[in-house]
Amino acid sequence: MSKKPAILLIYTGGTIGMIKDFSTGALKAFNFDQLLERIPELNLLDCTIATYSFETPIDSSDMSPEHWVSMVTIIEKHYQQYDGFVILHGSDTMSYSASALSFMLQNLQKPVVLTGSQLPIGDLRTDAKENLITAIQVASIQKNGKPVIQEVCLYFEYKLYRGNRTTKVSAELFNAFTSPNVPHLAESGVHFKINEALLLKTEATKELAVFKTMDTRVMILKLFPGINQSMFESILSIASLKGLILETYGSGNAPTETWFLSCLNKAIQQGLKVVNVTQCSGGSVNMGQYETSTEMKEIGVISGKDITTEAAITKLMFLLGQQVDDRNFKAVFEQAICGEME
Ligand code: ASP
Repeated sequence: MSKKPAILLIYTGGTIGMIKDFSTGALKAFNFDQLLERIPELNLLDCTIATYSFETPIDSSDMSPEHWVSMVTIIEKHYQQYDGFVILHGSDTMSYSASALSFMLQNLQKPVVLTGSQLPIGDLRTDAKENLITAIQVASIQKNGKPVIQEVCLYFEYKLYRGNRTTKVSAELFNAFTSPNVPHLAESGVHFKINEALLLKTEATKELAVFKTMDTRVMILKLFPGINQSMFESILSIASLKGLILETYGSGNAPTETWFLSCLNKAIQQGLKVVNVTQCSGGSVNMGQYETSTEMKEIGVISGKDITTEAAITKLMFLLGQQVDDRNFKAVFEQAICGEME
């Protein structure tokens, strides 16, 4: 008889892990030691589940690169022991964490599935149970004794997405995430349908590579009509700033005013990495398509292509953390590492 897949469930915090204290009515963190008692349905799953909880579970608004390092360290430490990993995480910054983890954990041959919920697990109308149960099932899917999913994913409201392609779009709906530029990888209905052609696969001979240095000397700046020269100049001249995600209009367009371009040019000449990402929720940057982006291309602005802002900022932290040298930085950024861009 073949062995059941072993899943490690990592609880970082977020709404999903809360239950109502019936005496006070307040929401409080769930005791993960009692997980199987609280959700007996988990006993019906065809896998074994071990749990690991952050000592102090956090609202994901407090998420930081140090927490990402803790997550990848737990996975690294237990990589041989488990067949799949499910991370329970607040939904607010889940797309940032999923993106960061996809860069920090390379050559994955096992699934890392992030999930959470809009309502606490103890709420009568909760979306937490479905998200949790199916995320564990996803992490357990195997073919010929090998995990089918071999990448960092996000499961929410019946859909499995590539984690670094997602963005949170609703603070209200259960259907809180979308993957604007790449179709979801799988969908849960009466049957669980996987789009196998979209899945990332790692060569079996490659070993897991874990990267733990993220450089946070980065910023995101969203353009808007009326952006002011002195504000723009002061941001670009922050001495410690190493990388900037510039959220531009449409297919990567920005003002053609001389002050804007010369300030950008000066910063790039001084070593600042500037990445052009679109403010649109779908589509791609294509510098040179319009006159309003041609010059940015000429002065060495990096194209973020169809990357999300969440993946762009974490990729920037990652590549700066790896100290990719100046000459190659643009070319390296413009190449996909793990399906985050076209
Ligand atoms: N504020 C919560 C968090 O991100 C919301 C949630 O869990 O969905 O931690």
